Amino acid sequence: MRAHQSCSCGVAVDHVVARRRTADGETLQLWHSGDVSGRFGYPPGLKRAQGRVALEARRRAWIVVELYDWAELAALVASHEAEVRVEQARVAG
Ligand SMILES: [Zn+2]
Repeated sequence: MRAHQSCSCGVAVDHVVARRRTADGETLQLWHSGDVSGRFGYPPGLKRAQGRVALEARRRAWIVVELYDWAELAALVASHEAEVRVEQARVAG
């Protein structure tokens, strides 16, 4: 496990803070770091979130994740990553 110091609950190691199911019934876990995984690994095409864009995209995807199948999650996250990058570019002018 990787040590963290950012969680408001005080637990200092990686831990799951919420679970949801995809439309096709797979369990997803929201980690306190903001990462999203299945119980036994990442959905196809996804890996551990690295950086602010990746985490923001997962935060947005988490809101609607129950509407998508397991196999669609990588595309869902990728679309949110693209959205975040567009917004960043707009803010940067
Ligand atoms: Zn926590």
